[in-house]
Amino acid sequence: MQNNLSDKPQAGRFGEYGGQYVPETLMHEIEKLTEAYNHYKNDPLFKDELTDLLHKYANRPSLLYHAQRMSEDLGGAQIYFKREDLNHTGSHKINNVLGQILLAKKMHKTRVIAETGAGQHGVATATVAALMGLECEIFMGQVDTERQALNVYRMRLLGAKVHSVTTGTGTLKDAVNAAMQEWASRTEDTHYVIGSVMGPHPFPTMVRDFQACISAEIKKQIITETGHLPDAVVACVGGGSNAIGAFYHFIEDKHVRLIGCEAAGKGIDTTQHAATLERGTTSIFHGMKSIFLQNDDGQINQVYSISAGLDYPGIGPEHAALAAANRAEYVGITDDEAVAAFEYIAREEGIIAAIESCHAVAYVKKLAPQMRTDQIIVCNLSGRGDKDVAAIARYQGEEIND
Ligand SMILES: *Cc1c(COP(=O)(O)O)cnc(C)c1O
Repeated sequence: MQNNLSDKPQAGRFGEYGGQYVPETLMHEIEKLTEAYNHYKNDPLFKDELTDLLHKYANRPSLLYHAQRMSEDLGGAQIYFKREDLNHTGSHKINNVLGQILLAKKMHKTRVIAETGAGQHGVATATVAALMGLECEIFMGQVDTERQALNVYRMRLLGAKVHSVTTGTGTLKDAVNAAMQEWASRTEDTHYVIGSVMGPHPFPTMVRDFQACISAEIKKQIITETGHLPDAVVACVGGGSNAIGAFYHFIEDKHVRLIGCEAAGKGIDTTQHAATLERGTTSIFHGMKSIFLQNDDGQINQVYSISAGLDYPGIGPEHAALAAANRAEYVGITDDEAVAAFEYIAREEGIIAAIESCHAVAYVKKLAPQMRTDQIIVCNLSGRGDKDVAAIARYQGEEIND
């Protein structure tokens, strides 16, 4: 994405981050998309249609659940879970995909493409493409297609074609490259559904807006339930879409702590992690200026986490700006801590949560005991954990068939 740039570095800035760094061949399409988004986001009919889909198809509003046993066990703050795991397709991804594919239809597109790592975003995109009668092609790193064979089959069941990407390390960043290239070669009928708050403007803003229903609902629900705003909102961070969705309507409430949990993998002092804000530096990649994990030559690093959904070497530009402004805090959670949290929340609350989300749960386990019992933590449960059960068993030395 760094050759023949037709840059608009000032478009869609968050502090010094964001912008539009795209090849000449894509700039026109990116401008059309920006224009369409700016129009439809204020269109009452579009908003009604999207709200209706979120409500009747995706199961929104999602529940806000008071985890009483866990709160008592940890002996500090009252813990509430925002249950994005109960959405159709099992995570927050559907919020963004419904928004973008509805917009693509308004733009008279007949085909959507998407990248996927673990397969969650690919499955959500294939689902909504089926719902709306669009052609769908998913780009997935070859290594990931092998690790996530079940999700590959799910996407095919839903009518999507899955491309196995063999370039680079055959993982998520290579899938993003392949999808960007495919889009640049065919924009007339195709929309690229980016799966997180990353890429060139308008994606980080647009995806944030589609995910902001999470914090809009939390705010209403927590006030109804307790009469107070939360003291802290905690979410896991891959590209950052569920976290920014959970943070957004609290950014102006300066006394609400916003805490993003990155994957520290085998430890941030090893080479096997994806803790972008703890260990990354500023660069331009995948169409945006942000923080990335890279080596001294500016090569993007291979990243690692037990959770495929947090396995991205960058972070959305709005998070980079929130970190720079000290408005949000970012902490690293190791594989060991996330797995312990996975088992803990299952036993304590009867919820099998995604291993991604368990990075946030792990931090809540550390934070809650330091707080008073009249204080409130809201933790975003970004997805459900059925997909992770076999991997957790394996991590604990048990082999089961998935
Ligand atoms: C994809 C995914 C994530 C990471 O993506 P963000 O854009 O950072 O939200 C987190 N949790 C679940 C369950 C996911 O599927």
